[in-house]
Amino acid sequence: MSSATLCDIPVTLERGQREVFCGLTGIVWLHRKMQDAFFLVVGSRTCAHLLQSAAGVMIFSEPRFATAIMQEKDLAGMADANDELDRIVERLLSRRPDIKTLFLVGSCPSEVIKLDLGRAAQRLSVAYNGQVRVLSYSGSGIETTFTEGEDTCLETMVRAAPQTDEQQLLVVGTLPDVVEDQLERLLDACGITEAAGKLAFFPPRRAETIPAIGPKTRFLLAQPFLNATRRALIGQGAVHIPALFPFGVEGTSAWLHSAARAFDVRKERVDTACAAPVARARKALEHYRHTLQGKTLWFMPDSQLEIPLARFLASECGMQLLEIGVPYLDQQTLSVELPALPENSGIVEGQDVDKQLERLHQATPDLVVCGLGLANPLEAQGVTSKWSIELVFSPIHGFEQVGDLAELFARPLQRKLKLAV
Ligand code: SF4
Repeated sequence: MSSATLCDIPVTLERGQREVFCGLTGIVWLHRKMQDAFFLVVGSRTCAHLLQSAAGVMIFSEPRFATAIMQEKDLAGMADANDELDRIVERLLSRRPDIKTLFLVGSCPSEVIKLDLGRAAQRLSVAYNGQVRVLSYSGSGIETTFTEGEDTCLETMVRAAPQTDEQQLLVVGTLPDVVEDQLERLLDACGITEAAGKLAFFPPRRAETIPAIGPKTRFLLAQPFLNATRRALIGQGAVHIPALFPFGVEGTSAWLHSAARAFDVRKERVDTACAAPVARARKALEHYRHTLQGKTLWFMPDSQLEIPLARFLASECGMQLLEIGVPYLDQQTLSVELPALPENSGIVEGQDVDKQLERLHQATPDLVVCGLGLANPLEAQGVTSKWSIELVFSPIHGFEQVGDLAELFARPLQRKLKLAV
């Protein structure tokens, strides 16, 4: 374990046993977002089970994800896994002509035998030229945490995007359609879309239409875990607009103001457009504030949403932060969030789960935000918990979701109170 200081906030580095899902989990929300895309995991039966249990069974529609299960002879290098993959892809695409983009998703087994899915995607793209775009990314558990699955997927899409010289604003990060529509209306009402010339969301609802990117593209991140995507966009000449993330009233207001400044839109115009949604959001928040105010909070490192959510819960809900665990810390992506944390917030980057649990039991927080694997044992020991993965699956961005976001943290505390009576 070692320590460093960041924006006057002490950061402890910890390396040891980790308790997180792998990046395959991202397929659950990515396949819902991109309605013409198919995700083919090249992995083991374990990968297939994880995906099936995380995504559930689709009864009414054809699934848009599957696992090409590698057999023992593939793993032992006794068969050409590329030939087998080509046969599976051929069968899939002849049965499903609706697939326009196919993602080959790497897993631990495919990485262990060094199956080059990037090259396979290139080969298959040529073979199905004009009909299907084939891309590849890694969702393996060798990465640090489960939200990296979205990051590596979007990074691949950025590299496949066409070039443009047109000025535009790109909002980057998978959002539920309803949230995307709300943010689009807000950006329009603030005059930001007009000043930018064009607004696009990334990823798009149809993977077939990846937005073009170029030197006049400015982008706002909507998710705090898109570090590789941010670097890939900059590599394509796009310019990052540093901002708070759009969680809570303050985060959403600051996110819009940052975009407005980037395109020389007057502050007053944004304030006027936001006045009614801000008032609604504050009223919704008030409902949960009395439950959250003064309660102590502990984040286990899991979703990479920890820092912006800790900022929201401390500054707008009055919670006290005891420890903010993060799987890894990208100071560029979080450059505006980190100084907005309360002084002396204890950040722990990485994980040594046993040591972290020891500290947690000593600190006895009122609420622990953690992965599914830790939540049940903690609940059994009388510790109130919140599943962090729910924060990735739920609509939590923007003014209209502020009440729902606060409720996600208030509900377990209220439930505990009811059980105690
Ligand atoms: S990618 Fe790795 S960690 Fe994820 S389910 Fe497959 S084997 Fe397990």
